[in-house]
Amino acid sequence: MNSEPAIEVEDLVKVYGDRRVLKGISFQVWKNEVFGLLGENGAGKTTTLEIIEGLRTATSGSTRVLGMDSQNDLDRIKDRIGVQLQSSAYFEHLTLEEILDLFRSFYGKGLEPHELLSMVGMEDFRRMRVSQLSGGLKQRFSIVAALVNDPEVVFLDEPTTGLDPVARRNLWELVRSIKEQGKTVILTSHYLEEVEALCERVAIIKEGEILALDTVASLVLRQENPVRLDFLPGQELSGEVLSRLSSLGTLKESHGKAGEYVLFLKDLVALKAALRELEPLELNRIAVSTANLEDVFVRLTGSRMTGEEEGLAWRVV
Ligand code: ADP
Repeated sequence: MNSEPAIEVEDLVKVYGDRRVLKGISFQVWKNEVFGLLGENGAGKTTTLEIIEGLRTATSGSTRVLGMDSQNDLDRIKDRIGVQLQSSAYFEHLTLEEILDLFRSFYGKGLEPHELLSMVGMEDFRRMRVSQLSGGLKQRFSIVAALVNDPEVVFLDEPTTGLDPVARRNLWELVRSIKEQGKTVILTSHYLEEVEALCERVAIIKEGEILALDTVASLVLRQENPVRLDFLPGQELSGEVLSRLSSLGTLKESHGKAGEYVLFLKDLVALKAALRELEPLELNRIAVSTANLEDVFVRLTGSRMTGEEEGLAWRVV
């Protein structure tokens, strides 16, 4: 990764009616980076992406792609970016290779359908229609279709939403291979694990504002209490023990796990003190780890994870 920007967003504002859905956000995406916009539904991720792509207009502020203005230079930008479309947008009566051929004809250059399909192990499906594909293959095809003009910057909006864990991981491999080809990727997601797995840097976005932007590791380490101790006592804890533990860091009851606690601690000295407190107790489970992106997200947004989809997505509580 070098530090030349592929995308520059400056003080971007979008107003719908009387609602400011983007409140002046700024960020840069470096060339050959995989950059994530993470936030719950309605945070403003798609709006941001589509303004950068030139599909929507900004109320104020500017967005540039490869040094070109999203609004004024759209014709030149189009040749150099790839945008993932939702699979429902594809022509139903065409085969995969016919769709790719058609897309290629829109550009002055491009990759052959068989080249694209073999890149993702989908050559055998070339005569099929999108409607005949499984959910995972549809999403895979929608990403492949975004690569038809061999773009330098690829936009993926919620690339794995609704997929099962195996299909999701397969698509992660595809995103990694796109980066390995030297391309820049900007993606939106409300899956923490996805962002942790794929993105070099992430912007956490809530209600049209960026609350934090950094590498996942730095976001975690910059936390006040980056050491995490999970424990499940075999008996109820006395008020004194609870208050001594609370004085060492931030003590919370685990969400969705009855009787289990999470203690966030500043450092290893505090961890040792906490372990001394726990030593005389009977414990059914204990785990020490570094805080994760989930912990950062909860602290910043006041939202927590929902267990609905593989325990990875966010909702407000
Ligand atoms: P996200 O992608 O993070 O789910 P969006 O960018 O789609 O969020 O939406 C941000 C906010 O803007 C939401 O509250 C949404 O309802 C609103 N919004 C999006 N598009 C329109 C539109 N065309 N007209 C009015 N409001 C919109």
